[in-house]
Amino acid sequence: MKNHTVISIQEDLKVSKSLGTIKFREWYQENKVSKKHSPWLHPLFNFALLTLICVISISKADPLNLKTVLLFPLTLLLGNLVVFLLHRYPLHRRMKFFPFPYDEHTVQHHRYYDFANITLTGPRDFANIFFPWFIIASFVVLACPVFWGLGFIYNGVSGGWFFVFCAAFYFTLYEVVHLSCHLDKDHWWLKVPGLKSMRHHHRIHHHHRLMSRYNFCIVYPLFDYVFGTKYLERELPEENHRDHTLDVEKNLKQSN
Ligand SMILES: [Zn+2]
Ligand SMILES: [Zn+2]
Repeated sequence: MKNHTVISIQEDLKVSKSLGTIKFREWYQENKVSKKHSPWLHPLFNFALLTLICVISISKADPLNLKTVLLFPLTLLLGNLVVFLLHRYPLHRRMKFFPFPYDEHTVQHHRYYDFANITLTGPRDFANIFFPWFIIASFVVLACPVFWGLGFIYNGVSGGWFFVFCAAFYFTLYEVVHLSCHLDKDHWWLKVPGLKSMRHHHRIHHHHRLMSRYNFCIVYPLFDYVFGTKYLERELPEENHRDHTLDVEKNLKQSN
C-alpha cells in the first residue's frame, strides 16, 4: 500500500511534468511553502544559531595547542567527505525508511533549480536554499555533543570545544557556499576566489540528467575527484525536466 508521502509526491509530479521551471516555482510558492514562512527569518535563524555555537565553542577551547588546532584541517577534509557521502546517497537515493532527505533535496530543491535556472530570483527562494530550521537545531542538540565527545577523547576539554567549533564552522561554510552557487553569475560576492568555479561545479550537478551521478561536493570538489564523480566533459547533454520526473519515479518504485 502506498503511503501518504508517495501519493503526494506522485500528485506533485503530475503538476511538475506540465510546467516549465519558472511556472513551477510560482506553483511551489503558492502550494508548498507555508504561509508562515518568513524569507529573512529562515536564514537569520540558521546563521545566528551556527554563529552562536562558533563563538561559544571557540571561547571555551582554551588552551589551543598544536594538537587541538590540527582538528581544523582534519574537519575541512572530513566535512568534504561527509557531505559527499550524504549528498551522493541519502539525498539522491530514496531510502524506504527515511525518504525525507531525497524528498526534500532531489524532489524539491532539484526541481526548483535546474541547470538553466540555477539562480535565485529573490528572498522568497531562500525557502528552497537553506536547511530547514529543525535540521540546524538537531545539529546543535544531537550532533554537537558527539563532536564534543570525540574531540575530548582526542585532546581533552579544549579538543572537545574546538571540534564543535570546527564542525559548526564547516556547516556555516556549507550554507554560505551553497547560497553562493545559486546567486546570479555577475553577483559581486562571486569575486571571492573559488566561488565562481564552485558555482559552475554545482550548476552542472543541478542538470537533471547529471544530478544523480556528478558533482556532489559543495565547499570544494576534492572527493568528487577522489571518487571519479567530477564531471569533466566539455559538452553537456540537453536538459529536459522529464529526466527529473524519471529519476523521482524510479526512486519511488525502488524505495517502496
Ligand atoms: Zn543547489
Ligand atoms: Zn543534489
